[in-house]
Amino acid sequence: MTTFADPVPGGRPGDVERASALGGELSGRGVHGIVLSYVDTAGVGRVKTVPTAGLASAAAWGVGMSPVFDTFLANDHIVTTDTLGSPDGDLRLYPDLDGLVVLAGQPGWAWAPVDRVTQDGERHPGCSRTFLRRIVTDAAREHGLSFKAGIEIEWAVGLDSAPAGEFVPATTGPAYGATRQVELSEYTGDLMAACAAQGVQVDQIHPEYAPGQFEISVGALDPVAAADHSVLVRQTIRAVARRHGLRVSFSPAVAAEGVGNGGHVHLSVWRGGVNLFAGGERRHGLTADAEAFTAGVLARLPALTAVTAPSPASYLRLKPSQWAGVFTAWGLETREAAIRLVRGTAGRRSEQANLEVKPVDLAANPYLLLGCLIAAGLDGLAKAAVLPGETTGDPAHLGTDEARAREVRRLPASLTEALAEFRADELLRAALGPVLTDAVTAVRQGEIDAVYGLDDEQVAAAYRWAY
Ligand code: GLU
Ligand code: MG
Repeated sequence: MTTFADPVPGGRPGDVERASALGGELSGRGVHGIVLSYVDTAGVGRVKTVPTAGLASAAAWGVGMSPVFDTFLANDHIVTTDTLGSPDGDLRLYPDLDGLVVLAGQPGWAWAPVDRVTQDGERHPGCSRTFLRRIVTDAAREHGLSFKAGIEIEWAVGLDSAPAGEFVPATTGPAYGATRQVELSEYTGDLMAACAAQGVQVDQIHPEYAPGQFEISVGALDPVAAADHSVLVRQTIRAVARRHGLRVSFSPAVAAEGVGNGGHVHLSVWRGGVNLFAGGERRHGLTADAEAFTAGVLARLPALTAVTAPSPASYLRLKPSQWAGVFTAWGLETREAAIRLVRGTAGRRSEQANLEVKPVDLAANPYLLLGCLIAAGLDGLAKAAVLPGETTGDPAHLGTDEARAREVRRLPASLTEALAEFRADELLRAALGPVLTDAVTAVRQGEIDAVYGLDDEQVAAAYRWAY
């Protein structure tokens, strides 16, 4: 559950009393500090922490932090624009008490996502979580729509004892193999227990394809909570790994070659408690609105790539025939199309049907990611867009005419190409507003410049431990 009202100086009604009581309860449980968590434009999780006794003050007045993080790069360099990246000014971080959890993997700590507010008590226009809350509340108010989202997490588990910077897989077993499950069963078992203690519903954990790779999927939630959980679960995966002498990488490409770490997004649209992806009269049970929403996302994928795959390392992963979905194609349960339509199991379709977006990785800021996907989908809905022809099999094998007939084209093959598409996309820029657009543009260009002249191996190494 997410608090959808904006933070206000002095606290939202009831917040300060609630935070005081909560602080007392947490202290009694041995929690001495609260991690205040947000994600920067480059996709790096950043934090401040306060003692538990400071929770009520944080709920009332926020905690100071510089706006300079709007233009931090993944390597901690700062880029500047006409208005961003200056050393001047300050913001307040307001914890969302509804998102606060005691961290099972870090005894003595609790965690809460924050919204960033100006010192005058206004929404900070560069706050990605505030952006997503606004997209979701506007869709509810203007269209009576709500959403359920889930972000899959793939990660590579390595030995903490490996030489600095290097990745040495912590398990040698085969892809999806029982051996891997056994070799890391203490770790993944502790991870499941930690998620359960934190109120995160785990649907599955399994050994994945790439060396040392695992995947976790969690229950679908409202988009803001889903983005919060994406951050929380990664914090937990990392913390539990440390306790087992392991080091984890969420980078899109732990190595330059081979299958990468994806962060596939599942998304469904609901009206009046009814899932628009099931029980409709269009193909595969889609309603006209769900088809239009899906077509809106599909049409805008080239520009969206600058948000869904924001790192130079993203383009080491985004290659054909590696399940990353690099063609603007859609299909029922097609794992090589950028959009896989998930119809669900007979008898459960009204709860399960959704669209899965594949060219997404975990360098993506999850708030910008979901906000931009929803904005693109809503544009399709407003235009009553229709889907082009469906793709079955791997779109990489389509002939030129077949590809053209289905409007199938290759997504950007570099961050430079993605940024050019993003710059030309007025709808996404308008949805983000000028400040976030400026931040995204400047940070992507900064990342492009940061890897100038590097080969693929060097790019993979540069981002291996950044996210
Ligand atoms: N690891 C693949 C990716 O880069 C996805 C594998 C899968 O389909 O789960 O997205
Ligand atoms: Mg997977």
